[in-house]
Amino acid sequence: MTPTRYDKAHLQTLREGIFKRISGGQLYTAYIGIGSNLGDRKKNCECAIELLQQQGVSVRQRSSLRETQPWGNKNQPLFLNMAIEVETDCTPRELLAILKEIETRVGRKKTSPWGPRIIDLDILIYNAMVIKSRELTIPHPFMHERDFVLQPLDEIAPELVHPVLKKNMRELLKSCAEER
Ligand code: ADP
Ligand code: MG
Repeated sequence: MTPTRYDKAHLQTLREGIFKRISGGQLYTAYIGIGSNLGDRKKNCECAIELLQQQGVSVRQRSSLRETQPWGNKNQPLFLNMAIEVETDCTPRELLAILKEIETRVGRKKTSPWGPRIIDLDILIYNAMVIKSRELTIPHPFMHERDFVLQPLDEIAPELVHPVLKKNMRELLKSCAEER
């Protein structure tokens, strides 16, 4: 019999399946960043939250919406950004799949990196988990450099500790502001 060969993505799926069985439906807290700079930006963010709840992801807290300067590619409309705290029994990759599906349903088309988008949903933090794979990095790799991410997190979870940098959101926001 030919041995089954698994690539990295398969192994990750298997690992997450095991994680889910061990955790037995346990709920995890995650933080999701929401941004939009095309169309009815507020409505796009609201619609994404509504669809997330329909998928069984409970929204526990939501920050206010802030208008922010675009990051990277400056030549595009202003963003509206916010962050939410959710509770879910989804694994990180299941949650990412849900977010990508919602982005498509809200109307996001393929865009260039850091380009304009109807909706952007990023997993910022998932429990105290640290993941680095091709399709998913948690904590989000740039979150500590972006005040449009840290400000809403500071609003809803100032004491939340970044599992790699070991600083809370208030401290990260302070050092981010000092560096600018
Ligand atoms: P960005 O949010 O950096 O502007 P995109 O929204 O276009 O970029 O996402 C590109 C890819 O980033 C996604 O297809 C996803 O697989 C990957 N990705 C890696 N880590 C994360 C994360 N923590 N949250 C969301 N997407 C992520
Ligand atoms: Mg994204």
